[in-house]
Amino acid sequence: MVSQGAGRLPRSLGFDDGGRNNGGRTMETLEADVLVIGAGSAGMAAALTARHGGARILMIEKMATHGGTSRFAEGLFAAESALQIRKSIGITRDQAFRTHMDNTHWYANGRLVRAYVDKSADTIDWLQQLGVTFTEPAALFPDGPRTWHLMEGGGHALVDTLFEQVKAAGIEAYLGTPVTELVHDAEGDKYIAVGTRKKGEGVQVLAKAVIIAAGGFASNRKMMEEHTNVGAFADPVVDLDQQGELLELAWSLGAARSGEGVLMSIAAVPGESPVSQLWAAGAQPFLWVNLEGERFCDESVMYRFPYSGNALASQKDGVLFSVFDEDTKNFMIEQGICYGLGEFVPVGTKITDLPANIERGVAEGKAFIDDTTAGLAAKMGVDRKALEATIAQSNECFDRNADSLFAKDTRYLRPVRKPTFYAIKSTFHVFTTLGGIKIDHKTQVVDEGFGVIPGLYAVGNAAGGIYGESYEVITTGGSLGFAVNSGRIAGENAVEYLGL
Ligand SMILES: Cc1cc2nc3c(=O)[nH]c(=O)nc-3n(C[C@H](O)[C@H](O)[C@H](O)COP(=O)(O)OP(=O)(O)OC[C@H]3O[C@@H](n4cnc5c(N)ncnc54)[C@H](O)[C@@H]3O)c2cc1C
Repeated sequence: MVSQGAGRLPRSLGFDDGGRNNGGRTMETLEADVLVIGAGSAGMAAALTARHGGARILMIEKMATHGGTSRFAEGLFAAESALQIRKSIGITRDQAFRTHMDNTHWYANGRLVRAYVDKSADTIDWLQQLGVTFTEPAALFPDGPRTWHLMEGGGHALVDTLFEQVKAAGIEAYLGTPVTELVHDAEGDKYIAVGTRKKGEGVQVLAKAVIIAAGGFASNRKMMEEHTNVGAFADPVVDLDQQGELLELAWSLGAARSGEGVLMSIAAVPGESPVSQLWAAGAQPFLWVNLEGERFCDESVMYRFPYSGNALASQKDGVLFSVFDEDTKNFMIEQGICYGLGEFVPVGTKITDLPANIERGVAEGKAFIDDTTAGLAAKMGVDRKALEATIAQSNECFDRNADSLFAKDTRYLRPVRKPTFYAIKSTFHVFTTLGGIKIDHKTQVVDEGFGVIPGLYAVGNAAGGIYGESYEVITTGGSLGFAVNSGRIAGENAVEYLGL
C-alpha cells in the first residue's frame, strides 16, 4: 500500500497504469537517488554536488529554460576567498558571521549561517573550477565590506556554466515541467513527485531523497497577501512565475514554516528593467515624497537597497515620487549619477538618455513634468501645500547643510528651485521572497516538532532561517551566496543520507 503521511496518495499519483488511475495523463515513470526540483543556482549546485558524490540525479524545472532568478544576479557573498586574500580585502569569516547575525537581530539560525559563511570561500574556488570567472570582490555601498564576488557575464554566465556542467555530468534535466505534486510513500520509503507538462503529459519520479530548490513566491499575489504585509501592492522586479508551489507541497508533507514573510525588496519604477535610466534617475538619493507629499526616510537608504523597500512598505499604496529640478536633471546627465543600479547602471554613469526616458515615462504615467511645483503636485495627485512645504524644508536643509529631519549625508541634499520640475514615480518591488520551509544547518527539512523529515532538503530562496525580518545586505551577495552554498551543503548531506 502507498501512503501519504496519515492519508492515501492522491488518485492522480497512481503508478503508471496506462492512464486508468492517473486522471488520464500519460506519465513517464522515472527513478533517481535524488530528485532536485528547480534549476536555479541552488538546484544546479545541489545536483552537481550530489552527482559528484556518486548519486543518480534527476532535475525538474518549471520554466522552459534553466536559471530562475539566479540569472539576474550579479555576484555572490564569500569571506576569506582566495580572491579577497590576493587583493588584501580583510573581512574574516568571523566578522562576516557576526555582521550577518547582528543585522538579522539573531532571528537567523546561527548554525545555518555559520555553515554557509564557512563554506563560502571554498564555493568561489569550486565555481572557478567549473568555469565561472570572477571580476573582483566589490562593496555595495561606499566603504562597505567587499564580499560581493562579481561574475564576468553576471548571473547569465553563472547559470549557463552550471547548466553546461549539469549536462556534462550526465544529469537528466526536464525543463518546462512544473512539479505539481509531491508525496512520501512511507512503505517504499520513497518520494513521488509529478511534473506536469501541457496536454496532460508528465513525468512521475520516484526518488530516495528530494532537494527543493524551487525559489520563492514573489509572483503569487495570494501568497504575498497571506504571508506579507505588502501583498496588496508588491510587484516582482522580474516576473518569472514564482508561485511558491513547492512551499505549499512541503508544508503539506509536514514541513514547518520559516521566514516566509521575509523579502528582498526595493523602491523601483514600475515596468522598468534594471538597465533603465528612468529607474536610475528615480532611485537617486535626493528628495523623495510619499502620496501625502511628505518625506518619509533618509533617501540614501537606497545604498542599502532593501531598506528603501522596507521604508516604502509602510507608505500609502507603497508609492514614492523622486522630485528634482532642471539643475539636478542636468547634473545626472552631465556629472553622472550618485547611486548606481549595481553593475547594470554603475555609479557615475552620465544618463544622457534621461530626457527621452522622461518623455516616455510621462506617456506611461510614471514621470511628471511641470514649470511650477503647484502644477507638478496636481499631476502627481499630491496635495500642493504639502509638496511645497516639503520642498521648502528640503531647500532649507540644503542651505543649512544639515538634514534636520532624517540626518541624511549632506552630499545628497540638492535644492529644488529651478524650473522645469520633475517627479518620477516608484512603487514597492520584490526581487524575491526569502524563505518558507524550515531547515536545519544541514539543510534538512524539519517539522513543527523540530524532527528531521528524512531525505527531504530545502535550499536557496525556498528555505527559511537565514534572515531576520528583512534581507541582510551588508554582507553583500547573501542571497545568491546562500543559494549556491546551501545547494552544495544539501548535495553533500543527501549523499551521506543515501550512504554512498
Ligand atoms: C534582478 C535581480 C538581481 C539580483 N542580484 C543579486 C545579486 O547580485 N546578489 C545576490 O546575492 N542576489 C541577487 N538576487 C537574488 C538572487 O538572484 C536569488 O535570490 C537567488 O539566485 C535564488 O536562487 P534559487 O536557486 O534559490 O532560486 P531561483 O534562481 O529563482 O531558482 C528557482 C528555480 O525553481 C524553479 N521552479 C519554481 N517552481 C517550480 C516547480 N513547481 N517545479 C519545478 N521548478 C520550479 C524556477 O522556475 C526557478 O528556475 C537578484 C535577484 C534579481 C531578481
